[in-house]
Amino acid sequence: MSLSHASYPDLGPDLAARMPELRGRLAANQRLADITWFRVGGPAQVLFTPADTADLACFLAAIPADLPVAVVGLGSNLLVRDGGVPGVVIRLGRGFAGIAAEGGHRIRAGAAVPDARLARAAAEAGIAGLAFYRGIPGAIGGALRMNAGAHGRETRDVLVEAQAVDRNGTIHRVPLAEMGLTYRHSGVPASWILTEALFQGSAGEPAAILAEMEEVAAYREANQPIRERTGGSTFKNPPGASAWKLIDAAGCRGLRVGGAKVSEMHCNFLINDRNASAEDLERLGETVRARVRAHSGATLEWEIVRIGAPLDGRPTGEALAEAYAQ
Ligand SMILES: Cc1cc2nc3c(=O)[nH]c(=O)nc-3n(C[C@H](O)[C@H](O)[C@H](O)COP(=O)(O)OP(=O)(O)OC[C@H]3O[C@@H](n4cnc5c(N)ncnc54)[C@H](O)[C@@H]3O)c2cc1C
Repeated sequence: MSLSHASYPDLGPDLAARMPELRGRLAANQRLADITWFRVGGPAQVLFTPADTADLACFLAAIPADLPVAVVGLGSNLLVRDGGVPGVVIRLGRGFAGIAAEGGHRIRAGAAVPDARLARAAAEAGIAGLAFYRGIPGAIGGALRMNAGAHGRETRDVLVEAQAVDRNGTIHRVPLAEMGLTYRHSGVPASWILTEALFQGSAGEPAAILAEMEEVAAYREANQPIRERTGGSTFKNPPGASAWKLIDAAGCRGLRVGGAKVSEMHCNFLINDRNASAEDLERLGETVRARVRAHSGATLEWEIVRIGAPLDGRPTGEALAEAYAQ
């Protein structure tokens, strides 16, 4: 489906005038498709890249309380709708990319550090237990928000504490017990921006950890469509069941809507292989959900996070599957 993209009034000058001390970058109508794995979606009304945590806190304290704020990481679990994201989208960059090993087999990383980089830095420092991050293509902020995990481990198994900035610009230290990490979910308020994390590993031999990371990478290469425009697992596994098996049993492997299709290799992955719109992908996901419900009675819950607005008057969510069926 070919769709023209939205554009928003430029909020940049007004925001900049409110906070002359701001050091980060404000960019109006910034394409988000370029920074997500699916490569779809409209623009951010304003994309803000803070210089560091103090700059982020100052920005959040100064913007109008009713201005919507969203945060994106590396966009590997994200579907941005075609109408883009009104308000501010925050993306953490260089000021949040620090990484340093500490005593006691601990390692501290900024929220913009890619998970695979954390795995490598830990390995080089002889810290075992973080090799599973080698296969997750997000950054630490997304790993904290999603309690990312793989190969039998997840973020809550290795986290000591995180740092977050709330919507008013107050900085919080959040110990693991207060993170509310459950399967692909964090209980930290949705409006908090996670800025840093401290991880606990154990003593290990760098060569052995690097070999483990190679195994993780090889497994991914063989079992997941990692070179495609995808968003990773589309749906969470329902308790006691496997999303991909339910999808396969409902006959959805290879199912297509417009430029989007269900991966043949791993049918819990959706793929943008023919210039799909975000609407194609969301409709495909909702159609899969409807077919799985009809076939097995199970209700799949989205793991992929959908943000933003549709193009004018277009449906979203379950209404998409209904429109497709008619
Ligand atoms: C090929 C492929 C394989 C994958 N395999 C796995 C896997 O094995 N295990 C797994 O768990 N996931 C997997 N994923 C999904 C994804 O990589 C993870 O969910 C990852 O943690 C998302 O991080 P991100 O930086 O890309 O976040 P994004 O996709 O950009 O955002 C995801 C969510 O996190 C929020 N978020 C991002 N940064 C912050 C921040 N700093 N503060 C607060 N909220 C934030 C966003 O608002 C959004 O709600 C896979 C994805 C792909 C494409």
